[in-house]
Amino acid sequence: MQFPAGFIQHISNCKGFDEVAFTQAHQLPTPVSIRYNPQKPVEKMAGSPVPWCAEALYLPERPLFVFDPLFHAGAYYVQEASSMFTGYLFRQFTDDKKPLHILDVCAAPGGKSTLIAGLMSPQSLLVSNEVIKSRVTILKENIVKWGNPNVVVSNNDPRDFSGMNGFFDVIIVDAPCSGSGLFRKEPEAKKEWSIENVNHCSLRQQRILEDIIPALKPGGLLLYATCSYAYEEDEKIVEILLQNDFEPLPKISVPAEFGGIVFSKSGYRFYPDKITGEGFFIAALRKKNGGDEQTNQIKKQFIPINADEKNIVANYLHQPENYFFFKYKEVIYCIPEIVKSSISALGGLHLIKSGTALGSIKNNELIPDHELAMSSIISKTIPRLELNATDAITYLRKNTLQINSNLKGWCLITHQNIPLGWAKIIPGRLNNYFPTEWRIRK
Ligand code: SAM
Repeated sequence: MQFPAGFIQHISNCKGFDEVAFTQAHQLPTPVSIRYNPQKPVEKMAGSPVPWCAEALYLPERPLFVFDPLFHAGAYYVQEASSMFTGYLFRQFTDDKKPLHILDVCAAPGGKSTLIAGLMSPQSLLVSNEVIKSRVTILKENIVKWGNPNVVVSNNDPRDFSGMNGFFDVIIVDAPCSGSGLFRKEPEAKKEWSIENVNHCSLRQQRILEDIIPALKPGGLLLYATCSYAYEEDEKIVEILLQNDFEPLPKISVPAEFGGIVFSKSGYRFYPDKITGEGFFIAALRKKNGGDEQTNQIKKQFIPINADEKNIVANYLHQPENYFFFKYKEVIYCIPEIVKSSISALGGLHLIKSGTALGSIKNNELIPDHELAMSSIISKTIPRLELNATDAITYLRKNTLQINSNLKGWCLITHQNIPLGWAKIIPGRLNNYFPTEWRIRK
């Protein structure tokens, strides 16, 4: 592989860098890894474990994910292995029993958010935010597929969180960067690399952090990550944080089977010649105590639903008594009661998804939403129609399905018992309600 001019020289002083081994590793194929959804247990593919992520596997080769129904069901997420270390650090420095307010500021397409959603307590709230509007669609899709009821998707600039002083216990900044860590996986990234771009990214990273730091509670945890090797985007940013509001956290002990993760200035460097994965940097820092106190947030108003509507939607949920129901533009949503006051505090944000869309009521019947089919909160008693892989793909293409079933009315289409979406069965016909915009087009 030919690196951009000046690149090797630029990173040659980085801690742990070994030019020969690094160059050789770039001749090897990129490892393929997936992370399973703990809420949607399925038969696992053949593969070997990712040492720092219990739910993840390296696959021997890259399958055509688009033709696997379980990919569409949110049973797993295709994620680069090094970046899964974010979950390992999150576990080390948070209490998984505690209710936490967590913000993933640069979240699209949703890799870190789905990872953290699977690790946080059910009483926690994750705000998964993306500033670029065109990238919010894929973020929302991945969050919907993952199915947690306590994840909110927002479309805000980091500075829009400035009114939320001290609200978050944990903030993840997976910053936009110059991308050198992805040269092997995405060779196109090399065209964008230059020292000017590294410096430009470094300044943007500093701005994002300045904007977001007030929203982190004193004593709160910051996870700062990039997929760049550049000192300017990694250790230099950590140094600036440590000179101001932050203090270092102790170095965690990394088991030998993890490979050679390099510890540098409160950060962990991943090189493709030392671990099985791509280039990555992540630092864990604690915000110093004192300073910002939590301020009053703009409260979000919810329009509650009436008792008749509640009776109809309750049939679709497992333990409906645990949820608060509200209506927005004729669609009924629910959020766990336990996070209601936390979500109410997000009234100043541009929320793209808050709560699970259950559907709209027409003629005393719920027309169920796809989000409900994907969600972990759905009742286990809803009629289900299990399809084999071939029929499941036909369903996901939104093509006509010939079925032989005694079921009538709304039912969940499943594969390996994991819901793929809704269908309505009327004598002699199955109406396919898989969302048109999500259908397999290939
Ligand atoms: N965390 C994501 C994941 O694990 O799937 C990847 C995030 S990617 C490295 C960085 C994200 O930051 C992109 O989605 C990009 O659109 C967003 N971004 C770009 N400019 C930004 C800015 N000025 N402020 C905040 N986010 C920005």
